[in-house]
Amino acid sequence: MDRNFRSILTGSFSTPCADNPTVAMIEAGFQHAGLDARYINCDVKPAHLGEAVRGALAMEWAGFNCSLPHKVAVIEYLDDMAEAARIIGAVNCVSIRNGKLIGDNTDGKGFLASLRTVIDPADKKVFLLGAGGAARAIAVELGLAGAAHITVVNVEKSHADTIAALVRDNTKCEATAQLWEGDARIPAGTDIVINATSVGFGDAEAMAAVDVDTFEKGQVVADVIPNPPTTRFLREAKKRGCTPLEGLGMLVNQGVIGVELWLGKTLDATVMKRTLSDIFNTSDA
Ligand code: NDP
Repeated sequence: MDRNFRSILTGSFSTPCADNPTVAMIEAGFQHAGLDARYINCDVKPAHLGEAVRGALAMEWAGFNCSLPHKVAVIEYLDDMAEAARIIGAVNCVSIRNGKLIGDNTDGKGFLASLRTVIDPADKKVFLLGAGGAARAIAVELGLAGAAHITVVNVEKSHADTIAALVRDNTKCEATAQLWEGDARIPAGTDIVINATSVGFGDAEAMAAVDVDTFEKGQVVADVIPNPPTTRFLREAKKRGCTPLEGLGMLVNQGVIGVELWLGKTLDATVMKRTLSDIFNTSDA
């Protein structure tokens, strides 16, 4: 009898973790693909991160995601890191191969996969709002993908300075930092505008302070906010003839890329997106 009662194990380490829907999205993908694999959502406190990582290794997990607050702290336990993760300085996806821990960062890669469904960022001008972890990962991946210029705009300008320098020092992309005062004006000729702030999360009426009259017809306007997927930022851009891109796609693609790294299998993004849309209670799948 050839039956195999051993499931492939993957999961996530973060705290708090109860509101993270990634487990439902990935397990729906596993099920649809007929894979006997599990994704276990673990609440891991900072003091226990090392034990959790060693536990995953001991139990021969295929890999795991690290979310807040472990994206930087996990680095000390790794054997190696992918180039982008090394530049970004944060890891949210760890693969376990032959007993070695390899760190990667799928935040920016998930965004890029989503962006590429509407535009190729090579040689494009980008206006990036925000300078936190998501903005940093997106800026580095855009630079590596050959974007021509990125303007990083942030209220705390020093954070934007850091990201612009990171892009300039590690990619061929030009990058500048700009202080965010009042309503930010998008420069004429910008190809891609990105809200990478947390403004709009869980609030369909909240919007990052942007002069909406500076949106240009034909521009791609993206948001990192996955819930609600159709943010006010995107609605205002769409009204002015821009192509909106929801943050939900970034989240789904991160899941797809993570499982590709762990198992070498590509899950069905449509099934995963529908699962998240049901959870977020939208009909946007
Ligand atoms: P951080 O806390 O690292 O960064 C938040 C950024 O938002 C900072 O630049 C901060 O500015 C800025 N910000 C916060 N409030 C305001 C405001 N009122 N006006 C202008 N700027 C503001 O968060 P992350 O980068 O990790 O995450 C940002 C968002 O991205 C979150 O909502 C998260 O849900 C989403 N995200 C989505 C993912 C997806 O897959 N769709 C993946 C990862 C994140 P300052 O530096 O001045 O404080």
